[in-house]
Amino acid sequence: MFVSDCLNVNELGHLTIGGLDTVALAERYGTPLYVMDEDQIRRNCRKYKSSIDRFYGGKGIAAYASKAMCCKAMCKIAMEEGMGLDVVSGGELYTAMSVNFPAERIYFHGNNKTVEEIAQALQYGVGRIVVDNLTELELLNSLAASRGKNADIMFRIKPGIDAHTHQFIRTGQIDSKFGLALETGEAMDAVKKALALPHINLKGLHCHIGSQIFDISPFELAAQVMLRFIADIKRETGVELHELNLGGGFGIKYVPDHQPVEYDRYMESVSKVVHAACAELGLEIPYIIIEPGRSVVGDAGVTLYTIGAVKEIPNVRTYVSVDGGMADNPRYILYQSEYHAMVANKTGLQRDMKVTLAGKCCESGDLIGEGMLIQQAKPGDILAVLATGAYNYSMASNYNRLPKPAVVMVKDGDSRVVIRRESYDELLQNDLL
Ligand SMILES: *Cc1c(COP(=O)(O)O)cnc(C)c1O
Repeated sequence: MFVSDCLNVNELGHLTIGGLDTVALAERYGTPLYVMDEDQIRRNCRKYKSSIDRFYGGKGIAAYASKAMCCKAMCKIAMEEGMGLDVVSGGELYTAMSVNFPAERIYFHGNNKTVEEIAQALQYGVGRIVVDNLTELELLNSLAASRGKNADIMFRIKPGIDAHTHQFIRTGQIDSKFGLALETGEAMDAVKKALALPHINLKGLHCHIGSQIFDISPFELAAQVMLRFIADIKRETGVELHELNLGGGFGIKYVPDHQPVEYDRYMESVSKVVHAACAELGLEIPYIIIEPGRSVVGDAGVTLYTIGAVKEIPNVRTYVSVDGGMADNPRYILYQSEYHAMVANKTGLQRDMKVTLAGKCCESGDLIGEGMLIQQAKPGDILAVLATGAYNYSMASNYNRLPKPAVVMVKDGDSRVVIRRESYDELLQNDLL
């Protein structure tokens, strides 16, 4: 019934997360509310770390893709777990630096980094800037030159892999705004340019083929393509690159019939390909970087709402409205993402009410899901949407001037606020007349 190990049901028939009663949490902190289980997040981090140890002899790092859920508390957890960090903007970088995240473990991505962001990255001394295109390469070289620095970079490559997922989150193919294409020779040109630039140290290559992927084969294929390219570069330039970043994208269980692959199995299969390809191509095993985002935080979170209006349209559908919606979870309106939901104060009962879960925003498309089975819902009940730890808070907006919900972290039977609920005054704080 539950999609995550950190969820359960207690003797009152209430949903629990990390052992705490969600109905009590909703009462204490108000709704809508994001709740995350810190132990689940740490367990997920450790799985990745141990698989790097197991399959690459520790020669690699798992960098948490912070765009999935970025705040001080999350950066601190990733830091304490010995993870690296993937950031894609000046704001994420600033958040990481605010908790003194070790800059050398930061990977700075983005297909259109601004001058200010590149300057900020150079100033902090981030470990690797993942360069997306030639404009950025030249800009970076000149900004580094004017500061008397050299920038350590990787190139973002499009390996040309179809990752069998929703096309909006498919990024490895040639028609993508991210990265340099192999087929056209664009990537090889960029490599040669980088090797000739005085303030650029080309350290390795990066690819990220998509998100919420349940197959192993696209990852294996991507590793193979990338290693072949490293061999091509060695042949054409005499330079062997020693770092390979294989990105993130590991799928998680949003609904009970999702069957994600165990992380260890991804790692094992891909590491076999890496070892075999390196032997065949005469390469040293590169330092391997992976960048899980969703699979670190997704299954550690739930969103709690208070149910309001229940609108039954005979022979059509029943709308159950909650006090949040697309402003705190835009994933249904963006990608028709599936979620599993339940009435948190009736979790022990049958889920025999088929509903469309609606948000409170002025958009007909503002839904959490359609055709969802939940327990008989009444106004005032608490609704829990599961596996909302990734790309919910981080994608939240103030549409309809809704203040962003609080984020509460649960650990060792206790709870604490890690992001305060936004107030109306905070909504106005940048308004000028
Ligand atoms: C989004 C992203 C990730 C993380 O993807 P998940 O699907 O959340 O694991 C990793 N690397 C890059 C470059 C990304 O853009």
